[in-house]
Amino acid sequence: MKTAKEYLDSIKEMNFEIYLFGERIREHWENPIIKPTRNCVASTYELAEKPEYEALLTATSHLSGKKINRFCHIHQSIDDLVKKSKMERVLGAYTGSCFQRCVGMDSLNALSMVTYDIDQKYGTEYNKRFLKFLRYVQDEDLVCDGAMTDAKADRSLRPSEQADPDQYLHVVEEKPDGIIARGAKLHQTGAVNSHEIIVMPTRTMREDDKDYAISFAVPSDTKGIIYIYGRQSSDTRKAEGGDIDTGNIMYGGQECMVVFEDVFVPWDRIFMYKEWDFAGDLVEKFASYHRQSYACKAGIGDALIGATQLIAEYQGTAAASHIKDRILEMIHLNETIHCCSLACAHEGHKEPSGTYYVNPLWANVTKLHVTRHPYEIARLAQEIAGGIMVTMPSERDFKDPNIGKYVSKYLKGVEGVPIENRVRILRLIENITLGMGAVCYLTESMHGAGSPQAQKIMIGRTSNIDRMKDAAKRLCGIKA
Ligand code: SF4
Ligand code: FE
Repeated sequence: MKTAKEYLDSIKEMNFEIYLFGERIREHWENPIIKPTRNCVASTYELAEKPEYEALLTATSHLSGKKINRFCHIHQSIDDLVKKSKMERVLGAYTGSCFQRCVGMDSLNALSMVTYDIDQKYGTEYNKRFLKFLRYVQDEDLVCDGAMTDAKADRSLRPSEQADPDQYLHVVEEKPDGIIARGAKLHQTGAVNSHEIIVMPTRTMREDDKDYAISFAVPSDTKGIIYIYGRQSSDTRKAEGGDIDTGNIMYGGQECMVVFEDVFVPWDRIFMYKEWDFAGDLVEKFASYHRQSYACKAGIGDALIGATQLIAEYQGTAAASHIKDRILEMIHLNETIHCCSLACAHEGHKEPSGTYYVNPLWANVTKLHVTRHPYEIARLAQEIAGGIMVTMPSERDFKDPNIGKYVSKYLKGVEGVPIENRVRILRLIENITLGMGAVCYLTESMHGAGSPQAQKIMIGRTSNIDRMKDAAKRLCGIKA
């Protein structure tokens, strides 16, 4: 297993083609906007080294029998699914951010099942190829980006009906030794913090769409892959030199637009090739796993609730009954998220490939709660913090030799609490509910792993309304 430092050194070696604010970023390891996002991924290595987190962050590989990082593991039991969820909460609280590595873990697990199922139907050898790749990922302790979301252009049209065929990533040429792929994947979490990029289709397909039904993995710095770094609210605060105004002084999330401009993929890295009838299945399996993964938001919720309690204490409002009530409401909403994630793990089952899969109905219920509860928790945090969270002067004013004394005098809270502590907590609440952190805590909660309607569709498909009707009929004596 890699240490956090070895991870950071290994990612520094990658020759990414990254653009940020219209400029090519060559020394990506030095960039102040990228750095905290890398530190965030590094925490998945750092905690794996600590004895107290070993049980959650490591597992035993079913391929090699070696100890590996859980983010590279294929779930072999219900216990693995439960530990995955607990690990995500711990890391969410530790980083207060999106630590990015779950996407790859969820892609690996989905592919472990779907490659097996395709082989059963078509006599192909995708599972063998996939397991070879998996062994490499486990042995080298790599970060994988899971790339699913296509650009899509006109959402009313299918992939093969688009005016521009590149709106969904597709094969443009077949060669003796591999294929050439073109297109783009949007909203790519942790893309330039990953060693490998795993491409998957984004939706169910019909036969006409078969050129779009492809899945493969390539090193993230493969020629032709271009990263256009997404900007986030207040991101330039990271480049201002101080740390107070960033709120979260160590960590952050990352999203990129990833362009595949005629990228070569060798055959042994291709895990689905035109089996259009399995595209929807791969999407569903990945999505259910990733919807369970949103236990991470309960972790960020822990940090936000802690910050809210602290600001109440610093400002002298903590004893008020309505403040106590709001804090309890925040805890209740936050625990609901984790309860659901754990429930879908406990109700998981073994698939024919041997991989354990979450209960998809409850995984989708988890994520639907996540599209709502963090918003309410954030609203309550803002109510308790007060307007000062957004009207407060900057770190530079606070430290200015002339006006700093006024800022300090009039930002005072409860006697004995350092003013800087109050300012830091307010900035953290601002970060999580409005700033860079809100990308991870709010927008990602809404749209990551699919928007609310995607969960409603799955809830409709996997719940049993007839059973509910039968229960009602029996109770009131309806026979037919
Ligand atoms: Fe992991 Fe959560 Fe980030 Fe998804 S949003 S990669 S589950 S931390
Ligand atoms: Fe996500």
